[in-house]
Amino acid sequence: MTKEIMIEEIKKLKKEKNAIIVAHNYQNEDVQNIADFVGDSLELAKKMVGVEADIIVFCGVKFMAEMAHMLSSDKKVLLPRIDAGCPMADTITEEDVIKLREKYPEHTFIAYVNTNADVKAHIDICCTSANAVTIVQNVKNDKIVFLPDRNLGNYVQQFVKNKEIVLWDGCCNVHDKIRFEEVQEAKKSHENAVLIVHPECRPEVVKLADHTLSTGEMVKFVKETDAKEVIVGTEEGMIHRLRKEAPHITFYNAARNFVCPNMKRTNLEDVYIALKEEKYNIILDQELREKGKKGLDEMLKYL
Ligand code: SF4
Repeated sequence: MTKEIMIEEIKKLKKEKNAIIVAHNYQNEDVQNIADFVGDSLELAKKMVGVEADIIVFCGVKFMAEMAHMLSSDKKVLLPRIDAGCPMADTITEEDVIKLREKYPEHTFIAYVNTNADVKAHIDICCTSANAVTIVQNVKNDKIVFLPDRNLGNYVQQFVKNKEIVLWDGCCNVHDKIRFEEVQEAKKSHENAVLIVHPECRPEVVKLADHTLSTGEMVKFVKETDAKEVIVGTEEGMIHRLRKEAPHITFYNAARNFVCPNMKRTNLEDVYIALKEEKYNIILDQELREKGKKGLDEMLKYL
């Protein structure tokens, strides 16, 4: 089947089955182009509340599809590639959180949404990179356990100096591998460019940045900035989205091979098969879904 025919088939199936396709900013270009909605984790979570469709095809990684199921349990949620996981989410298990809870009984547990459903079931409130600072600042406790991303946690700590924040030693291996020297080199090569980086990067890389932004905030930034050149310090799929939003700006990668293999697993054919065969259906047992949803509902109160 040619790409053009496949796109037509996807559109036909979508209509027949009353489906919506949503995609994370890091997805392949073809997948972003066929999606009804493209966004960061927070935007996608908000979109899931009250979405009008029978089927949600979630082009992202597994914890995101689980999140969609938690927030929209009356819909069928399909993850086109069941092997699209998140190594950061896998750095912490349910048992780890239970032990941490015993060690820090007075702390409020805040988890980045990049966690698996069984971990979400044991925390107090979720956050994304777009609202982590606001949530840590506003929870009514000065003692926080923040998990699983130590880089995002370190970033948050700069803005919340009056609170004790215990960090889990996890990270996104895609953002964490980006080195200071390489980003500094990119800055030297493009002296007039503004550098924007994601807070999942290491603290020394974040220090180099003109602005540290979630991917949703990056979209807002490029729509409003006067800058003509921007160096982008996050997964390179983001550049496709930014070019669409601000075609007058020249974008550069902050580093070579800034690619999340899990986000890149899904291609057009996977989306087509997912819709045709209605797979892979993400279903959590009711107790797990309800427990995990509490942390997401708490987060959504801060919008
Ligand atoms: S970019 Fe990092 S945090 Fe996002 S899905 Fe890939 S490994 Fe997980």
